[in-house]
Amino acid sequence: MVRPKPTACSQPRVSELVAQLLVWFAGNARDLPWRRTRNPYAVWVSEIMLQQTQVKTVIPYWNRWQQALPTIADVAGAEPAKIHKLWEGLGYYTRVRNLQKAAQLIVAQHGGVFPENFTEMLALPGIGRYTAGAICSIAFNQPTPILDGNVIRVLTRVFGIAENPKEKTTNERLWRLAGELVTEAQKQKLLRLKRQKNWPPGGGKNFCSWLNQSLMELGALVCTPRQPQCLVCPLHTQCAAFRTGRTQSLPNLPKRQASVARHFLALVVGQDGKYLVRQRPTGQVNAHLWEFPNVETTGKPADPRAQFQARFGGAPVELAPLLQVKHAITNYRMTLEAFLVTAGKIPAPAGTVWKTPSQMQALAFTSAHRKVLRALIARIKGV
Ligand code: SF4
Repeated sequence: MVRPKPTACSQPRVSELVAQLLVWFAGNARDLPWRRTRNPYAVWVSEIMLQQTQVKTVIPYWNRWQQALPTIADVAGAEPAKIHKLWEGLGYYTRVRNLQKAAQLIVAQHGGVFPENFTEMLALPGIGRYTAGAICSIAFNQPTPILDGNVIRVLTRVFGIAENPKEKTTNERLWRLAGELVTEAQKQKLLRLKRQKNWPPGGGKNFCSWLNQSLMELGALVCTPRQPQCLVCPLHTQCAAFRTGRTQSLPNLPKRQASVARHFLALVVGQDGKYLVRQRPTGQVNAHLWEFPNVETTGKPADPRAQFQARFGGAPVELAPLLQVKHAITNYRMTLEAFLVTAGKIPAPAGTVWKTPSQMQALAFTSAHRKVLRALIARIKGV
């Protein structure tokens, strides 16, 4: 392929960008388990899991999910406890609840067959314009555009778009550019590409799928936020940001809000080999997941003895620090201080139940409380 000589003012040419992206993807696509299938259900699950989550984290979750729930009907009929356990640790649990609601609708309205139509997909819970575009292109090779953080980064840099990509007009312009690229990919089905051992699968019949995935892949592997690898990038001869030294200033995203610190105190209350736990109610963050009794202490003194007395009455027999967990969610920096408490004979307060450690291991815990459970088990075993 002949690459154009860069000039200061030349505009990127869509047909060349598409050919360069397809050639690059043919030689560089990572072998990911969901890329070995065009089953829309499998693609859908991967796209939902990949929202806000890295590929290497998703791989084992996706494999376990496909093994436990191989069909849409399996998801529709699964117990909520089962789907939450399979999702445990991935976070953003609304995703898994929407996945099940959508599976139930697909069974009720489409006979359990994933719809091929973009508008019908958009009507399903948890499926927005990006996800519908990804499934339509990857599973059905339709020329539907995608636009996520990775694609925004590549397009704003290649086309030298200096406006805020979240702003409505610019965002629509980016969707249009993404649409032009994937539509052009559909026309390039005769392009002959060298592949290693038939990888990635599909060839010319899959160019809409490849094009969209090449944008995601380039954004993830080459056109990274801080140190883009421009010299090995297939688009560098056409890229406006590279030509004009603006890779660090594009995309022009608004500054993130400063994160807010929040503190929580958890009491791991034990009695006769069992511990008090509770399930988070519907409508709250992390609904359906399990946790140890805890209270937010942000801005207040965190006195575990006083908390025990206030919640359970009387004084604990023994109380000792167990674990401090620090984690970040959206724009919060959370610190959870967990204390191990040996209680006398106390009844389980409303909303809590006694469970042994092995019973607790079968439940889906929030990520922070799963760490507390691990620390508890290690403490019991004397590790
Ligand atoms: S040349 Fe650099 S900035 Fe431009 S698309 Fe490639 S990696 Fe991104």
